Amino acid sequence: AQLGSEQHGLVISRYGQHADIEDEQGNAVRCDLRRTVGSLVCGDKVLWREVRYDGQSNDGKRRGVVEAVQERHSQLTRPDYYDGVKVVASNIDQVFVVSSVLPDFSDQILDRYIIATEDMGLTPTLVVNKIELADDAVRQHIDQRLAYYQSLGYPTLTISCKQQMGTDDLLPKLNDNISIFVGQSGVGKSSLINQLIPGANIDVGDVSENSGLGQHTTTASRMLTFPAGGRLIDSPGVREFGLWHLTPEQILNGYIEFLPLISQCKFRDCKHQNDPGCAVRAAVEAGDIPQFRFDNYHKIMQSMEENRSNRTFVR
Ligand code: GDP
Ligand code: ZN
Repeated sequence: AQLGSEQHGLVISRYGQHADIEDEQGNAVRCDLRRTVGSLVCGDKVLWREVRYDGQSNDGKRRGVVEAVQERHSQLTRPDYYDGVKVVASNIDQVFVVSSVLPDFSDQILDRYIIATEDMGLTPTLVVNKIELADDAVRQHIDQRLAYYQSLGYPTLTISCKQQMGTDDLLPKLNDNISIFVGQSGVGKSSLINQLIPGANIDVGDVSENSGLGQHTTTASRMLTFPAGGRLIDSPGVREFGLWHLTPEQILNGYIEFLPLISQCKFRDCKHQNDPGCAVRAAVEAGDIPQFRFDNYHKIMQSMEENRSNRTFVR
């Protein structure tokens, strides 16, 4: 076998010792990885060469070798017992945080995903699904929360997959870039993906429908394509990711309205709780920062501390 010239490619699926990459014409090629190529994940931009068989091609399918990975502009990570942190996907441009009316809308869970998204250097878009299930009181509560998040610069959207309400408003946001949908189990991410990508068939979910290269495990991350051309990286590990590997500084960075205030706190090691002269608490008391954000911040910090101290006992 001979190697063709070096080309650019995009990793659309990753499993075992292989990766499926998409060439510049949009065709999928199954690749082996050079040993010098470090960890490779869905979304990686790579340099690869086609393997050309003289005469006897193996099974008529294209094969290649990935030789190098290009620098990532963003990474989705999750905690890993052995490595500390594991990269799950890369080069994500947009994060859609999906929540719902049932399971109950929770601003604390939302805050957790916002923290993780800010940590990736991205601005989350907040999507509340199953809005048709909300009675007036619930709807009012959700609208009030969303209005605050919107004031922080986070786009918000209420939708109903079931009634196909609002889902079309998502479409223009998905073009020309790589998105992920994250959120608690049961909020309707799979339903949403199936609605936006006809034939995605997420429950049966494997890459074979997409790349024509055959069956992989359903847990592998894969890249889906929206009809209008945008991309979605999806896997169980992408949809729900934890936070406990984040430091207190990273958590604070998710509270973007606190950041301009902390330099005004009286003490440099202010915990922004009951500390005298805390500018954050003063802003809460003045009504500039809502109580729920302040409370969530402290609950999340506390749960992180518990996680960190328990860490040696975690499986
Ligand atoms: P995921 O775990 O986030 O992927 O959620 P799924 O897509 O599996 O959806 C969980 C459940 O919510 C399923 O029974 C869906 O049929 C249901 N569901 C999804 N969207 C809606 C909606 O807009 N309204 C209602 N009432 N149910 C929905
Ligand atoms: Zn403070």
